[in-house]
Amino acid sequence: MREKIIAGNWKMYKTIEEAEDTIEALSEKLNDVEIINSIYIAAPFPFLDRLVQKFGGSSIQFGAQNINENEEGAFTGETSGKMLQSIGCKFVLIGHSERRDIYKESNEVINKKIKAALQNQLQPVFCCGERLEERNNGNHFDTIKKQLEESLFILTEEEINQVVIAYEPVWAIGTGLTASPEQAQEMHQFIRSQLREKFGDHTAENCLILYGGSVKPSNATTLFSQADIDGGLVGGASLAADDFFQIITAI
Ligand code: PEP
Repeated sequence: MREKIIAGNWKMYKTIEEAEDTIEALSEKLNDVEIINSIYIAAPFPFLDRLVQKFGGSSIQFGAQNINENEEGAFTGETSGKMLQSIGCKFVLIGHSERRDIYKESNEVINKKIKAALQNQLQPVFCCGERLEERNNGNHFDTIKKQLEESLFILTEEEINQVVIAYEPVWAIGTGLTASPEQAQEMHQFIRSQLREKFGDHTAENCLILYGGSVKPSNATTLFSQADIDGGLVGGASLAADDFFQIITAI
């Protein structure tokens, strides 16, 4: 049995007060139940140090939404893996579709970011996903295969075994549209089969593959009960403690 992860992506929302209030409210709810899965929050950079200091001992693990691929240097406005590690971050989202689309991150840069994370003992949560036109044209498997091949499949087996994959169809992110459980399961199964072909059974069976794209309390249980879905990456619904708690306990 693989463990499950429910990860929240707060994007560029909240003030520090709102962030602390949300985690406090969530922690209170979590205290009353037995939690069997891991809970991740990818908070904005300015909040991470405070959140780790204040809530790092709770069942919530904190991580970043991006990382620079370089070790250090004259990269104004950027954040290194070493910085994230030094404040106690546990993981980092890499290759989110908003980073691919808005900031033009290529599969090659994403590969470098994964390596930078691993060098600093941060768990990479690698995001991949197809656009609506790619799905409509029947090219969705090819798109995902290319993203996997160019960013992930050039890692060593030891490296890939530390990566979590998040399948996030671009057309379902922040749109209210969700992949049906069948569509999501079909793609997760495909990703696992690609892992098996490239790295063998051990890697394929142990790799955690999260689903992301308008996960909400009302659809979480069905999505998370699919055989190859090992939890979720949740944007909008992770901003409110109540909704996120319901998603965490939907497993
Ligand atoms: C995300 O940002 O990764 C995401 C899945 O967002 P949402 O849940 O709002 O679609």
